Amino acid sequence: MQGILLVLNAGSSSLKFAAYDTTETGIEARCSGQVEGIGAAPRFTAEDAAGTHIASQDWAGGGAPASHAAALDGIIAWLDGVLEGRKVVAIGHRVVHGGPGFAAPMLIDLGVMAELQELVPLAPLHQPHNLSGIAAAAKRFKGVPQVACFDTAFHRTQPFHADTFGLPVEFHARGIRRYGFHGLSYEYIARRIAREDPALGAGRLVVAHLGNGASLCAIAGGRAQASTMGFTALDGVPMGTRCGQLDPGVVLHMIDTLGMTTAEVAKLLYGNSGLKGLSGISQDVRQIEAAGGEAAERALGYFAYRVRREVAALAASIGGIDALVFTAGIGENARALRARICEGLGFLGIALDPDRNAANAPEVSAAGAAVRVLVRRTDEERMIAEHTLQVVRSHAGG
Ligand code: ADP
Repeated sequence: MQGILLVLNAGSSSLKFAAYDTTETGIEARCSGQVEGIGAAPRFTAEDAAGTHIASQDWAGGGAPASHAAALDGIIAWLDGVLEGRKVVAIGHRVVHGGPGFAAPMLIDLGVMAELQELVPLAPLHQPHNLSGIAAAAKRFKGVPQVACFDTAFHRTQPFHADTFGLPVEFHARGIRRYGFHGLSYEYIARRIAREDPALGAGRLVVAHLGNGASLCAIAGGRAQASTMGFTALDGVPMGTRCGQLDPGVVLHMIDTLGMTTAEVAKLLYGNSGLKGLSGISQDVRQIEAAGGEAAERALGYFAYRVRREVAALAASIGGIDALVFTAGIGENARALRARICEGLGFLGIALDPDRNAANAPEVSAAGAAVRVLVRRTDEERMIAEHTLQVVRSHAGG
């Protein structure tokens, strides 16, 4: 199976892609990119494997793609020009929700598509876009195997007490569970740490995936044990625009007493809360830090406080912590916030080296600290590509 392995990640208004060469031994990154702003003012950008910008287009003169299918056509046309005749031999898709059933990547057929469709009510904001990406790719690449990789799958090893809510037990059976998300990122980080340091990889990790969406995951022996995200991607720590943990009584109060509609509540909790709502400045940490002032200070302080609480809570869930790993945009870059999160975690054995932290070094913990604090770049696309290759090769019998 020599050729190009394509990874697609279809969001509400974006279609991201990454292309890999398949080799005898595995995969090699070729290029990646995205069409953003689908349906509004789309813009295409692409980078080579080293992250250097190699192409962009904004369709200012007309002909902009108005759908994911049209965006995919644009990506395919561009890829045709750069892939030197190599054919796409497999496609891996990011799918947000695998429900209680899908605990591993799956080769997609009509039956799997029907099951994924049934999961739409569990992730109405994401799943339909993921599925339309699959449908568009299936049309354009007839006969090419397609694999679904789930953000929830890595968390399916969580024990019952971490997977359930304190509701009557039949709700768990009906799928009202703590699914957890960002699973492809956690799996990539867990495997990477295990490759770098097998003893640490077999130990107790708390991984903080802090981007626009943010969550933390406790991993022991390479397996997920608990996550801050729950039934939806709203729970846990505050995010760019999402509220994070909220007393469910607040939602009842908003509907029953404040007279808000469920659509208004959903818009508030998903789109106007978190850092954006608290700061009144932006959802973006860089802009909040640049603005400064009391509101910025309060928003960043709340964010750091909630993440710190979750680090300690997740450490308790796995009986201690050997390493804390920061990843995603904030985790990898926001040194001041990292320092603030770790302040007060000395009782767990966490202490930062200020110079290493300021340099975004791969290891930012102080020499001699009991717990290692690491900074790693996540790569969900590569995780999807590795899964896809493995599934396709095992189905091909080789
Ligand atoms: P997404 O979840 O959309 O993939 P990212 O992982 O790109 O998001 O994270 C975006 C967040 O990372 C934003 O809040 C952004 O401000 C923050 N960020 C990126 N670089 C820096 C930096 N150098 N300093 C502080 N925050 C940063």
